[in-house]
Amino acid sequence: MSAYFQAEEYHRPQNLSQAIDILSKFGNSARVIAGGTDVLPRRAGVKKLDNFNHLVDISRLDLDYLKKDSGHICIGAATPINTIGSSDLFSSGPHQALSEAASAHSTSIIRNRATVGGNLCNASACADLALTLLVLDAILVAAGPDGTRDIPIEKFFKGANYTALATDEILLEIRIPKFSQNAGAAFQKLRRQQTTIDTAIVNVATLVTCTKNSCESARIALGSVAPISFRAKKAESVLAGTELNDEIIKKASIVAAQESRPIDDVRATAAYRKKMVAILVRRSLENSIRRCGQ
Ligand SMILES: Cc1cc2nc3c(=O)[nH]c(=O)nc-3n(C[C@H](O)[C@H](O)[C@H](O)COP(=O)(O)OP(=O)(O)OC[C@H]3O[C@@H](n4cnc5c(N)ncnc54)[C@H](O)[C@@H]3O)c2cc1C
Repeated sequence: MSAYFQAEEYHRPQNLSQAIDILSKFGNSARVIAGGTDVLPRRAGVKKLDNFNHLVDISRLDLDYLKKDSGHICIGAATPINTIGSSDLFSSGPHQALSEAASAHSTSIIRNRATVGGNLCNASACADLALTLLVLDAILVAAGPDGTRDIPIEKFFKGANYTALATDEILLEIRIPKFSQNAGAAFQKLRRQQTTIDTAIVNVATLVTCTKNSCESARIALGSVAPISFRAKKAESVLAGTELNDEIIKKASIVAAQESRPIDDVRATAAYRKKMVAILVRRSLENSIRRCGQ
């Protein structure tokens, strides 16, 4: 734990029900801690967003796993991002977009600690895996005092650093559905210097289902250009049911840029971000289409 972090109490429950009891008891003054790569800098005052003084460590809840059932790939919420980046489960098909996102996340040292559940629950607009899970239509399984519930990822992000989880709920698992052979997906990220640790100026994930260039459906998710990651549905509808060619891909990319709502900040201007959305969406769509049927 950070040397300058002063939690009033650090709890390390032995099982899920203990963890939920602690969260229920302390309400908004408690936070789950997984890898700590977001929650500790935030609490330490780098970003003065939060005022909690109990940390609930979930490392003993056995949430670090990858497995397959008949219809899904299931990822335990406390699975480190490096595990995802190096797993064969994400080396082919649309799921490889998640592996691309994992490889684009920070550095190997941080990826060994940072978890996929933390990436989702932190609800940052620039979170690389969260954005990709949005086009992969993931189901998020959460547990609270009343049992477990499934949350479709589209309903999970409520605002910057704000999710559909109640203060006494824990994200347990991420379920990614299987896709048809005709689907392909990709991830793109632009940062200030591509070789250094930096979060995205713009990040994009796309998933296209097509047969011989005839597009059945498309999903486009945009990150870092609005308070939360979101699907660019107008751009998606430009592609659905069309014969894919350079012109229609370019049109969809421009519509996606129009749907983005970026701001000026230390990383880039809003105008630059909008231009980059169009470029990254085009590249991501081209990669997705190339991968369809592979
Ligand atoms: C130097 C640096 C570089 C970074 N670069 C990137 C980058 O390139 N791309 C990127 O996407 N992110 C980046 N991040 C942000 C961070 O590493 C990721 O968001 C990471 O995935 C967070 O995971 P964690 O396990 O560390 O989360 P934590 O810090 O432990 O938790 C984050 C939030 O999620 C909540 N939480 C965590 N797990 C659960 C759970 N199972 N149930 C309920 N709530 C939960 C916590 O209470 C907290 O609010 C970077 C961070 C640093 C410090």
